[in-house]
Amino acid sequence: MLTGMQIAVIGGDARQLEIIRQLTEHDAKLSLIGFEQLDHAFTGATKEKITEIDFSVQDALILPVRGTDAKGQVDTIFSSEKVFLTKEMLEKLPQHAIIFSGISNSYLDEITKEADRRLIKLFERDDVAIYNSIPTVEGTIMMVIQHTDFTIHGSNVAVLGLGRVGVTVARTFQALGAKVKVGARKSEHIARITEMGLTAFHLNDLESNVKDTDICINTIPTSIVTASVISKMPTHTLIIDLASKPGGTDFRYAEKRGIKALLAPSLPGIVAPKTAGQILANVLIKLLREDMKKREENQS
Ligand code: NAP
Repeated sequence: MLTGMQIAVIGGDARQLEIIRQLTEHDAKLSLIGFEQLDHAFTGATKEKITEIDFSVQDALILPVRGTDAKGQVDTIFSSEKVFLTKEMLEKLPQHAIIFSGISNSYLDEITKEADRRLIKLFERDDVAIYNSIPTVEGTIMMVIQHTDFTIHGSNVAVLGLGRVGVTVARTFQALGAKVKVGARKSEHIARITEMGLTAFHLNDLESNVKDTDICINTIPTSIVTASVISKMPTHTLIIDLASKPGGTDFRYAEKRGIKALLAPSLPGIVAPKTAGQILANVLIKLLREDMKKREENQS
């Protein structure tokens, strides 16, 4: 249980609702900022404005997956008010308070560093990234079905990158009957791809490996699907770019060549917000419990 913990949940999308539900079930006391248009009420949670929050009593702040934008604004889809997080707010927090976000940016990194408070980026954790790859791939399948007139079964799929998302993409498309090739740059990744029964290629040979590609799924967050690579693809190829914004595809050139290329950010929050929220809530509760236990041990 999280009895006695005071937590401010600031902004976010439908994923945050599952986090709020689970935290209140664990008996934490919540202040909800940026949720005034939400009809639902949660026992143990009060909707407040950011100006009404007493930061000095908060044990944790929970931000949306994106954290803030480059100017400190927090996304609030359940509110029309603009909410900004500042260094001055963080300085008022107790020293032990933890700030949670999915990812970060230089603004959030800087204000937490200057305020000398702990920032935990949940998406940097392998467990969160691997669990999150499941709804990501389900969303990818949905997009592929929506944007093709052929089956995944029997099609030539090129997956770029064998990280936490790439593994799940490759395995799932293989299970659906696609002929899957995976491009990577490390020899251990080439070995793993081969072990998985898939066709491996080095990314240096990307251009020669996309000549028969029906679907290209990129997970590499750097410019990789360049104009030169796209020029070698058949014109019916569908490119789905899962890498974080701005993706790794030359979208301008793809459009020029008449190849459909789609940047597909935040799929878990779109196709399975409840599951995506549960993934985050489970880790949050574990970390908050550990922190609570540590503080209790220090006090005794
Ligand atoms: P990851 O585990 O770090 O994997 C990244 C992959 O990219 C690795 O195979 C890595 O290979 C490769 N890579 C990175 N830089 C490279 C470069 N310069 N050249 C060649 N290969 C490079 O990351 P992940 O968790 O799989 O996530 C992949 C991307 O998807 C991220 O941008 C993440 O934000 C995004 N994502 C999107 C969604 C969505 O809904 N669209 C959901 C989850 C994640 P090495 O090991 O050789 O570096």
